[in-house]
Amino acid sequence: MHDDGRPVGFDEYRRAGGYEAARRALTEMEPSAVTELVQEAGLKGRGGAGFNTGLKWSFVPTGDDAPRPRYLVCNADEMEPGTFKDRLLIEGDPHQLIEGMIVAARAIGAEVGYVFLRWAYRKCERRLREALAEAREAGWLGEDLQGSGFDLDIHVHVSAGRYMSGEETGLLNALEGGRAVPRSKPPYPQQSGLWGKPTVVNNVETLCNVPHIVRNGAEWYQGLSRAESGGTKLFGASGRVRRPGLWELPLGTPIREVLEEHAGGMREGYRFRGLLPGGGSTDFLVDEHLDLPLDFGPVQEAGSRLGTGTMIVLDDRTCPVGMVHNLETFFAQESCGWCTPCREGLAWVRDLLGALEEGHGHADDLELLSTHCDFLGPGNTFCALAPGAAEPLKSALQYFGDDFRRHVDEQRCPWKEA
Ligand code: SF4
Repeated sequence: MHDDGRPVGFDEYRRAGGYEAARRALTEMEPSAVTELVQEAGLKGRGGAGFNTGLKWSFVPTGDDAPRPRYLVCNADEMEPGTFKDRLLIEGDPHQLIEGMIVAARAIGAEVGYVFLRWAYRKCERRLREALAEAREAGWLGEDLQGSGFDLDIHVHVSAGRYMSGEETGLLNALEGGRAVPRSKPPYPQQSGLWGKPTVVNNVETLCNVPHIVRNGAEWYQGLSRAESGGTKLFGASGRVRRPGLWELPLGTPIREVLEEHAGGMREGYRFRGLLPGGGSTDFLVDEHLDLPLDFGPVQEAGSRLGTGTMIVLDDRTCPVGMVHNLETFFAQESCGWCTPCREGLAWVRDLLGALEEGHGHADDLELLSTHCDFLGPGNTFCALAPGAAEPLKSALQYFGDDFRRHVDEQRCPWKEA
């Protein structure tokens, strides 16, 4: 993106080597070689799950008798609280995403692609549609792409605006016109996805990495990283830091470096208390974790998740109970209602936190909240919304337990006027 907010246009993108990877994937490489290259590069899904992208593509049946059509879906339904990275990628460089989709579609043999876009991203939609028209005009979409014999078109689908529409299989139901509730797995979408046909769902940032891997190779891509996982990552910071924003940095960059060098440290008069490293559904990390390298493994070992890599910073003038209450209100509202622990439990959690905030908390509320975290935890619900919602609460109880207790003892929120 240009400094004045203009996106990178088609001609400019071409001059910088754009669509060279697509040309190679269409005319010089076998689809299986593209998949192997991406797998070898170690590109892990940037939507939060961190699964090897090439490996995911390799599960699509591609023999002569494999089912057709096959679909590629770009998940651009970015609704994780605190996360805004995919928006910047689409607004700033829509052709990079389109090229990534051409390469991915070629690898899995998909003739139809969809960009499933967050309803609120109107500027993204406009720029993406313009870029798709330019690509089609230049023969990069449509029939017989660049004379390769490969057909592909990409359509934009604007989401109805629910968090569950961004869950991989909830998204497929929504795209088919149904309610965004998750499907049971297996069968996995790679075998039976959209309308029962093989489908790959990849995040925007993941797909934007693909052309660079094809152009420069797996070794180059791995060399960009400071950690075990290959490549770079968009890291962000929001909250009371001096320069909230988003930066492309090597995977493995320490948290302290992102916060102090790139985000400029805490704003005058505010002290760091903790952060959610990868959006609203990850566990708090605190002072002792500041030197942790931002990579999938180390963050998990520290008890959290890299998630989307966009940090929400908590300062000493913000009530941790209020912050978690805000998040749980969001997750309770976005529950699809399928599983009892999520449908009922999140509403209880929201109400208990609300009572604490208002000064009506009881001594046993903390234990009750902790029990709810167990009920909402992994294995007790159909999808990851409830376990994700439990993460900030569980870790807040661990690191900011005294603040919760003060709400009960003082029968008020200590951060609000008495
Ligand atoms: S965990 Fe929540 S969002 Fe996920 S399926 Fe169950 S009720 Fe729906």
